[in-house]
This record gives sequence, structure tokens and C-alpha cells, in this order.
Amino acid sequence: MSMNNQGRPTGTGTSGFASTSGSALLPNEPLLFEIGDTEHSGVDLPDATITNARLGGFERKTALDLAGLTEPEAMRHYVRLSRLNHSIDSGMYPLGSCTMKHNPRLNEKMARLPGFADIHPLQPVSTVQGALKLMNELSHWLMTLTNTSAVALTPKAGAHGELLGMMAIKAAQDAAGQGHRRIVLVPESAHGTNPATAAFLGYSVKSIPARTDGTVDVQAVKDALSPDVAAIMLTNPNTCGLFEPQVIEIAKAVHEAGAFFYCDGANFNAIMGVVRPGDLGIDAMHINLHKTFSTPHGGGGPGAGPVVLSAALAPFAPVPFVRKGANGLELVEHEEDQSLGRITAFQGQMGMYVRALTYMLSHGGDGLAQAAQDAVLNANYIKARLGQVFSVPFPDYPTMHEALFDDSFLAGTGVTTLDFAKALIDEGFHPMTMYFPLVVHGAMLIEPTESESKQTLDRFCDVMEELALNAKAGNAARFTAAPMKAPRRRLDETRAARSPILKWERPAETLKAAE
Ligand SMILES: *Cc1c(COP(=O)(O)O)cnc(C)c1O
Repeated sequence: MSMNNQGRPTGTGTSGFASTSGSALLPNEPLLFEIGDTEHSGVDLPDATITNARLGGFERKTALDLAGLTEPEAMRHYVRLSRLNHSIDSGMYPLGSCTMKHNPRLNEKMARLPGFADIHPLQPVSTVQGALKLMNELSHWLMTLTNTSAVALTPKAGAHGELLGMMAIKAAQDAAGQGHRRIVLVPESAHGTNPATAAFLGYSVKSIPARTDGTVDVQAVKDALSPDVAAIMLTNPNTCGLFEPQVIEIAKAVHEAGAFFYCDGANFNAIMGVVRPGDLGIDAMHINLHKTFSTPHGGGGPGAGPVVLSAALAPFAPVPFVRKGANGLELVEHEEDQSLGRITAFQGQMGMYVRALTYMLSHGGDGLAQAAQDAVLNANYIKARLGQVFSVPFPDYPTMHEALFDDSFLAGTGVTTLDFAKALIDEGFHPMTMYFPLVVHGAMLIEPTESESKQTLDRFCDVMEELALNAKAGNAARFTAAPMKAPRRRLDETRAARSPILKWERPAETLKAAE
């Protein structure tokens, strides 16, 4: 077996893929260039009759160095590549904070309807009335579920939604002559995007400590409030998986100080259909459709982070938005009155809107509430079962949609949280979220979601318990060497990000042979 310049072993050939046994992933996949060769072609075209004269001297002088592949070769390459990675479609994906839930195939079917999939953002609105109706209906659902006055659909991720929500708050305060408010309060357990958003808009960030029970210290919020505070950015349920018991008191204090309440709604899966954030006093909240409403995410795929707004912020909502007009639905595309303008080129992620609304309509309001309750039940089941072996940093409250453990059970074993997570890969599970939230040392955040069955949860817990007991029994090597069954071992992720190899070069010996 030789290595090419990408560090991939070559020469395994396509027949090296027989091994699907065991719980780990498949071995290496060669590049397309290594599978095919320039001598063959997967297509059968008539010889070109274009004469060189018509190309003005720009015709190729050398052969096009592209590998020809048959359709089955190309297809198998991509299918095999897809199997080199964990995915929610291939097994449990218990990442906390990210809500990796099942993406129902009905959503995919609807998103592929030609009337949704094949339209163009610049088409005349008279020809896309159905798409606008869908956006309108999705907006209605989002506002109803949150009890808010307006929604901006266009943000393309949760972080983008945070930016928009904070821009709306800034616009409202500037309009009210409150532009001197330059401080944003952020609890120390917050997702990194919260302080990053505030800093990006030029605010200074003031950190609010957590109490020992994992909830936000209300007195600390009150003490930090002043006429210079623009807003608080609070996550509820918070990143420790706990519903903030004093969230209404916090909202009241924030409003009394003339500030706004931005809620990070990434954890809405725990409360959708059960609690309306508007009733808690929030002014703006992003909803990650790609988390809560079952649209696919990961691998940099598209997301959608609509932001709901309270009546106070509604006038500052961005364009475009959909409105009922004399000739049906219209797309309001130009700034009106106090609108803060446009934050995306077109109308946002249409495919995600279709998937999210399909999920809502197929569940109904009661079904969404049931999904939230089942997600909470599953997380508490994991907390109860694994709490026997793992250390639970915040035992006082029942957990919401995710269960948080810390690494104190690993003390003295020589196994780190990272090693433990890598060992889980060998057992066929995607690791949980590690080292987040930062307020907990060696955090392990597990979110099972409602779509996992009790059998799956039990198998996951069995594996987790077995690993924990094995680590305590002194078998550190199993962990420090893991993953052993995955196609890649431990990657130098920093180097991969900083000096990626983006160009394939034909190995010297084959270049020679081709001459
Ligand atoms: C995922 C997440 C975000 C950011 O959302 P993206 O869609 O990834 O930009 C913000 N806050 C919390 C708590 C999250 O889990």
C-alpha cells in the first residue's frame, strides 16, 4: 500500500470495501482521479467537428487530464464517501445544544416539489403566490408558537439571527434617543455566538455569573443593569439544560431598566408548543429551523434562523417580508419607515421553510408539544440512568432536553473527556458535545431528542456505562488510542484548517507513464 500526496493509502482498489462488519466505519476511499483513468470515458459522445480555426488559437494543446468514470463508479464513490461519516440517518447523534433530530422524509418530498424547488428568487411575485403563502403560513406558526408580533424569516443561521435581533434592538434604541446604551449582559454559560454578536455590533459585553445550581444569578443581573445597558442575551432553556426558574423576574428587571431581552432560542425544541417565549417577556428570539423544526444541518449545510420580534421591535423588522395586498400576497422588498433594511440577498432558505412547515403541519400544535415533552422525557431518562455512574454537576433540577455530566468520574484514570468521546466513536455513536458549556469542567452534554426510541437510549446508556467502568478499571489505552475502528484516527484539526491540501497532483510515476 503506497501513500499519495494527500496522505491517503492507495492501491486498495474498489474491491477493498467488503468490510461492513463491526460497528465502526468503512476504510479509505480513493479520490475520483485514482479510481478512473484518462484512457476511458463514462460518456459516449460523437467526435467533435469544430475546426481549430473557430477557436482563435485558444484550443487545448494537451489532453484534458480528467479521469473518466462510469456512472456506477461515480455513484459508488459518493455513496461510499457518505458512509465515511456519522450522520443522523446512520445512528444516534447525541450532540448537546445542536438538536440533531430525525429529518422526516416527508419534509424532503415536499421540498422537492417543482413549485418550491425550481422557482427563482427574481421571478414575478404573481408566479410564486404559493411560495409566498408558505412563507406567510410559516411566519404565522412561528409567531403563534412564541406569542410574538413579527418575524423575520431571512437569517440563514442562529448566529445570523442573533445579529439581526441585536440590530433590531440597536435600531429601536437609536430611534428612541437611547443610542448611548453600549453594554450587553451575557451569562457566562452562553453559547460563544452571543458575546460574539454583541461585540460585532460594537457593544461591550458584561458577563453574568451562574449560581452553583446552574441557573443565572438574578441578583447579579439586577446589579449589572444600568442606564447604559442595551440588552441581555439569555438562553432559555439554558445551555446547562435547565429552564431558568426566574426568567420572568429577569425580563421584568431588564425592561424596568429600559433594556431589551434577547433570547437565544436554540433550545426551543424543549418547550415548543408548551411555553410561549413571548409570555416570558422576550423581545427577540432566533429559532433554528435546522434544530427545532427538523431540517437537516451539519457539515456547513444550509440553516435558517428566523427571528421573532415583540411589538416594541416589530417596526424595525428587516425586508423582505410577505404581506397581503390588493392582488394577493406581495413581497415587501424596500425599506419602509423604520425597517432596518436587508440582511440577505434574497428571501432566505426556501427549502428549509418548506421542510419546517411540513414538520409543523404533520405534527400539529399538539404533536409539537408532544415532541417537546418526549425530548424532555428522553433526556431525563438518560440523566437518571447515567447519573448512577457519571457525575452530574447540577442535580437540583430535572433537566430539559439535554443531560449534562462532567468529567470528575474520570479523575485519576488517565482518560480525558476527549479520549472518552473518541472511544464512543469505536462503539458506533457520534460523540456528545464536549467541553461546553464552559462553566462546567470537562462538560459532556447529551441531547437524545424525542426521535430516539427507548431501545436506542438503552443501548447508548449500556455503552456509556461500560466505557465509564472500563476507564475506572484502568484500561486507559482503549481511550487514549481511540478511535481505532474509524477510517481516520485523531486528526490534527488545526493543521487541517490552516493548511488544507486543496489540489490533487498526479503522482510523478504515472505522469511519466502518460508521456
Ligand atoms: C446552535 C446554537 C447557536 C447558533 O446557531 P447556528 O445556527 O449554529 O448559527 C446559538 N446558540 C446556541 C445555544 C446554539 O445551540
